[in-house]
Formats: sequence, C-alpha cells, structure tokens
Amino acid sequence: MYDIIVVGAGTAGLTASIYARRAEKSVLIIESGAYGGQIISTPDIENYPAEAHIAGYEFAEKLYRQAKDLGAVFVSDRATGLEKNENETFFVKSLKSGYAGNAVILATGSKSRRLGLDGEDALIGRGISYCATCDGNFFRGKTVAVVGGGNTAAGDALYLSDIASKVYLIHRRESFRADGAAVDRLKKRENISFILGARVTKLIADRRLEAIEMTLSDGRTSTIGVSGLFVAIGRIPENGPFADWLELDAAGYAVSNENCRTKTPGLFVAGDCRAKEVRQLVTAAADGAVAATGAVNFISSLKG
Ligand code: NAP
Repeated sequence: MYDIIVVGAGTAGLTASIYARRAEKSVLIIESGAYGGQIISTPDIENYPAEAHIAGYEFAEKLYRQAKDLGAVFVSDRATGLEKNENETFFVKSLKSGYAGNAVILATGSKSRRLGLDGEDALIGRGISYCATCDGNFFRGKTVAVVGGGNTAAGDALYLSDIASKVYLIHRRESFRADGAAVDRLKKRENISFILGARVTKLIADRRLEAIEMTLSDGRTSTIGVSGLFVAIGRIPENGPFADWLELDAAGYAVSNENCRTKTPGLFVAGDCRAKEVRQLVTAAADGAVAATGAVNFISSLKG
C-alpha cells in the first residue's frame, strides 16, 4: 500500500514524485516505457527557466535521479485501469498485477498522432518515424521530410538538417504554429525547404519508403522522393484506461480544476494528459508539483 501512486514517469510524474517524497509520502511510479517521457527525444531545450540549453535526455536523467535519490519506488509495468475499494482507497490495475494507494496522480502524457495513411504502420522503421532524435542517424546524407507545423516539427527539421542532405518541412497551413524564433532559425538553413498548404496523402514504398505524394491546397498532387518521413503532427492523450473516473474533453484530455483535481476525490492529473492551454515542460513540472501537493493534502484530510 502506497500513499501516492503516480502513473507515468515523464516530467509531470517525476516532479510529482519529488514533491510527494519531500512531503514524506511513500510513492510508487508506474512506467511502461523509458523514464523521462516525451522530452527525452527533444534535442535541445531552450525554454526551461535557468537552463538556456539542455538536451532532453539529460534533463530527463537529472529529473529521474532526483526522484530516485529521494526514495520514489519505480516499477516497469503498464497501468491498465483503476478501481476504488470499499474503504475509498485506489487499486491501479496493471499488466503485471496491480498496486494499492490512497491517492493517484495520472501523468500518462500522450502518444504520437498517426497520419492515418495506408501502409503507415508497416513502414515504421522502414522510412516512417515519429522520433527524429531516435532515428535521424539512419538518414545521414539522405533526403527526408518532416510533416507538421508545431515546435516538434520545427525542432525535428532543424535537427535533421545537420544529418540529412535535404529536409522538406511539409505543413498543411500557410503559416507555422511553431515559435517565430524557431521558424527564423529554419529559414537560415540552406538545406531546408518549406512546402506549405500541403497534406501528405500517399506513401509510396517498395518494402522501404521511397516517395510521398502530397495534395496541395488547389487540389493538385505532387510527389517527392524521400528516404524518411518524420511525422510530428501532435499527440493524443493516454487517458482511455481511466476514462470511467475522469471527465474528458472532446479531444480526450482530462478535465481538472487549477489544483489538478479531477471529479474523483483523491485522483489527480498532471502534464500533457490534462486539459489546459499550454503544454510545455515548465507547465508539466508545475502540474506535477500542484498535483502532488493536492494528493498530500487529500491524504491528510483522510486522517482527519
Ligand atoms: P502541436 O503544437 O499540436 O502541433 C501539431 C502540428 O501538426 C500542427 O501544426 C498541426 O497543424 C499539425 N497537424 C495535426 N494533425 C495533422 C494531420 N492529421 N495532418 C497534418 N498536420 C497535422 O504539436 P507539437 O509540435 O508536438 O507540440 C506539442 C506541444 O509541445 C506544444 O505546446 C509545443 O509548443 C510543445 N513543444 C515544446 C518544445 C520545447 O519547449 N522545446 C519542443 C517541442 C514541443 P495545424 O497548425 O493546422 O493545427
């Protein structure tokens, strides 16, 4: 039995664990993938306070160490659902077994959105990637495309331009959602070309990706040869297994109040899985602190 169970060891979950441990609560963190979450694949973080430049994996490693050194218990497992016991404690169901706790913080983040094209899944690892820093090196000296218009797509294009010979950045609108500073940096790279007002509509492959077909805003189609396509079109929250205990918005994000409380007493949400305006590293960390403080207070209220 733990005081607090945190589901997800990304920035929000790890920060929550740090705050909960400093309040001397026992903490279990359940994570099915790598510790650190989404940020481990960001090449260079430039907007975290007091860190002008830090690689995502280094940031994640420091955060993980901090939580671990404070005594948070980590388990490699996948949480698959939630139950509430008669005595109002929680049971987090998992692939391996399950875990009991007085309060639960969901910091499950989100997964990469797919383009939804024929052959997309079969071409993962054969030209299609959702992580430039993980797979970029396989495309040294080759022509690649990045699809998306946000900060992830901008960062990926910049990163890949140091490795690939040519990078196309394809976006469905005429202007980017990414920060102006990031777009300015892209414009200075000679081997990056923008293709705006275009959607990728077909993957052309013979075992490996060879080319992509795009449909332009006037309805014409155009094909370019690429060895790699990096898909950076946003993410989908991973709240499904816990939906019965949450209010979800139309996009599937968990609704909570400003204290990260959900409609279920003792259940908190933090980070990218939560409905909010700004999904950044700093807001994930902030959510973690707020949710942990709420969970600590909730446990105190149980004791009367
Ligand atoms: P995002 O900001 O939601 O951008 C997703 C992009 O993909 C948008 O440009 C969107 O187009 C496009 N898109 C969505 N669905 C599409 C589809 N089916 N086909 C084609 N294009 C599609 O996602 P993100 O770039 O992953 O960033 C997520 C959050 O993390 C953001 O808040 C971002 O600022 C943050 N982030 C921060 C850093 C950093 O701090 N260094 C790095 C990376 C990301 P529309 O513009 O038309 O909607």
